[in-house]
Amino acid sequence: MRIDKLLSNQGFGSRKDVKKLLKKKMVIVDGETISSSSTHVDPETSEVYVGNEKVHYQSYIYLMMNKPTGVISATHDDMHQCVIDLIEEKYRPQHLFPVGRLDKDTTGLLLITNDGEFSHQLMSPKKHVDKVYEATVTCEVTDEDIRRFESGITLEDGYETKPALLKVNRTTTETSDVTITISEGKFHQIKRMFKAVDKHVLTLKRVKIGNLTLDSHLEEGQYRELTPDEIASLS
Ligand code: URA
Repeated sequence: MRIDKLLSNQGFGSRKDVKKLLKKKMVIVDGETISSSSTHVDPETSEVYVGNEKVHYQSYIYLMMNKPTGVISATHDDMHQCVIDLIEEKYRPQHLFPVGRLDKDTTGLLLITNDGEFSHQLMSPKKHVDKVYEATVTCEVTDEDIRRFESGITLEDGYETKPALLKVNRTTTETSDVTITISEGKFHQIKRMFKAVDKHVLTLKRVKIGNLTLDSHLEEGQYRELTPDEIASLS
């Protein structure tokens, strides 16, 4: 790979910016200062430094974000702030995108990557990856609701949902806190499932995808890279 492409991919600015670094003799490959943008390097085996900073080549990026409300799960939108707008500059050249969608008012675990295959594995309806949400809904959640979620709910468009696990953490006649596990991701699925049992979702937060739990240290809007073990647990 050309050194200008590699460094640009790794967040060292545009190719023009990289050219400037090369001109300033700041780029060292395997102990040799290089000055040409077209120098080819092997990203897997070459030791690359920019100044004193060692470049850790990573072809794919995997981030876990605690999505805040009011932000849409998209890469770009003319009207609204997108989750990718919350990502710092150094990751930007990596063509990141969110894995699946959360509604604008839903918070919690959102994966962001540039690995299309990884995203497909998690989102494909055929893979049945469980997603766990915490919700506050209106009214009392009954045993009958639990049973209906378990046997599949018919949504307003006639779609029959797959079995969902509904756990009631607190319930009153006014509102209830629940944990719900679904293995699919239809548009507004949880809101529509509760609507089918005459309840309204007040807040919704995703806390788990497959084996991966949202890091409780992440405030809304914060994100961090997944560890190799976490990536492996999802792959
Ligand atoms: N179900 C919904 O209704 N909204 C989400 O954001 C996710 C699941």
